[in-house]
Amino acid sequence: MIPFLINASGIGKKFDIGSTALTVLGEIDLTVKTGEFVAIMGPSGSGKSTLLHILGCLDRPSSGRYYFSGQDVLHASDRQLSRIRSETIGFVFQTFNLIPSLNVYENVELPFLYQSMQAKRVKQKVTEAIDLVGLKPRVMHKPSELSGGEMQRVAIARAISIQPKLILADEPTGNLDTETGNDIMELFKDLHNLGATVVMVTHNQTVADFAQRTIQLVDGRIL
Ligand code: ADP
Ligand code: MG
Repeated sequence: MIPFLINASGIGKKFDIGSTALTVLGEIDLTVKTGEFVAIMGPSGSGKSTLLHILGCLDRPSSGRYYFSGQDVLHASDRQLSRIRSETIGFVFQTFNLIPSLNVYENVELPFLYQSMQAKRVKQKVTEAIDLVGLKPRVMHKPSELSGGEMQRVAIARAISIQPKLILADEPTGNLDTETGNDIMELFKDLHNLGATVVMVTHNQTVADFAQRTIQLVDGRIL
């Protein structure tokens, strides 16, 4: 039994810009248990997205230690990292990031293109995820034929279709009106109640209130 899904200590991130190094994160300690729902808040430019990218193995920290599900991320190969990402982490972004030419079903099916799973099982998982977010009647629609809230539901279905160990969401309601944003947060709450582990970035307190715990980030450090 692994006590923490996320176990990060002393995480730092620097970007080299020309001859100078910009420190974006400094000495971040963060642990998240399986089944937790955590919000990361902070002003624009405080390093929230950078931290989320590191937690999601999209980027590596410059210093510190990061264990995801017991695995040492810092010393994993690029191949191992992309495998962790595609098989165990679901991402949801502010801008939905759907493929315009693909319909709802095909967008949700995307993560499975990188996995060798039986076609029948893939179909079952994709269908289940679409049902769960309430988009069964829209399965053949293209993103341009959907509302913002529906597009975000497709993105959430895509994220959960692989039954990830972790769902990461970066400002998931940032492009939605208040009411639709609330509906999307109710969906995250439902997923959490079904057992999902969620780490979500937001700068909206009402949105953060859906989480069990909030972390404040200021100038790349946790308050
Ligand atoms: P937030 O999501 O809290 O708004 P970010 O994590 O996106 O903040 O960015 C934090 C800081 O790091 C910003 O000053 C941003 O310009 C800088 N930054 C982010 N990514 C890069 C990068 N790839 N190269 C250089 N600077 C970056
Ligand atoms: Mg950001």
